[in-house]
Amino acid sequence: MGDSLIRLNDVHLTLDGAAGPVKILNGIDLDIGAGETVAILGPSGSGKSTLLSVIGGLEGVSAGRFTFMDRDMTDLDEDDLAMFRRDHVSIVFQSFHLLPTMTALENVAAPMELAGKANPFARAEKELAAVGLSERVGHYPSQLSGGEQQRVALARALAMDPDLILADEPTGNLDGDTGGRIVDLMFAANRDRGATLLLVTHDEKLAGMCQRIVRLKDGEIDAEEITDVGRAA
Ligand code: ADP
Ligand code: MG
Repeated sequence: MGDSLIRLNDVHLTLDGAAGPVKILNGIDLDIGAGETVAILGPSGSGKSTLLSVIGGLEGVSAGRFTFMDRDMTDLDEDDLAMFRRDHVSIVFQSFHLLPTMTALENVAAPMELAGKANPFARAEKELAAVGLSERVGHYPSQLSGGEQQRVALARALAMDPDLILADEPTGNLDGDTGGRIVDLMFAANRDRGATLLLVTHDEKLAGMCQRIVRLKDGEIDAEEITDVGRAA
């Protein structure tokens, strides 16, 4: 395990529900090292997606401390959080969130263009080739299978050279073989580019491919374990 990348100290999150305030995260303590692979498991409604949103800078915290690369994230405003996401984090969702009016190539190039990166289209072509989609660069999302769309989403995520990849049930809408390919590509990004990988899953087998498993229950960490992979690392 490398230097600490993410540190949560006693993080609480309360949101306003229809029937009053709802406690969603109830005192999370979590430390994730740079380059680590971590799975978050837990029943539906236990706060997995919310925790990912906090770590991805999409959602603030009500109490406690969240630091990223030793930088306090708790007081950042919307603009600073947007910059933080752009520079450090890529999120892969279960539904792929591709823009329907853009080709695969444009979908991958767009965030790089917005971030002012050099040669976004050449880079997008490379990233699409790396996920095996050289032949599909001009296709629109509606012309691609679910697995292909998820590979475009992954290429788009990796093109930004993230320090952290967050994946929320990334294989949930895919069949086994197709999902397995996505998983392989995410772990390759961890291995080859040193990206830290934090993924939410229902799949114990997938969780077992990570170095560490964090089990959530009712917005709290119920258990943490180092896997065989983690012990071998
Ligand atoms: P999981 O991903 O583990 O299924 P979530 O993080 O999506 O769980 O949700 C945790 C709990 O927080 C659930 O009970 C959910 O209904 C509630 N919740 C999520 N988002 C909101 C919100 N914006 N307002 C109120 N309650 C929410
Ligand atoms: Mg969820």
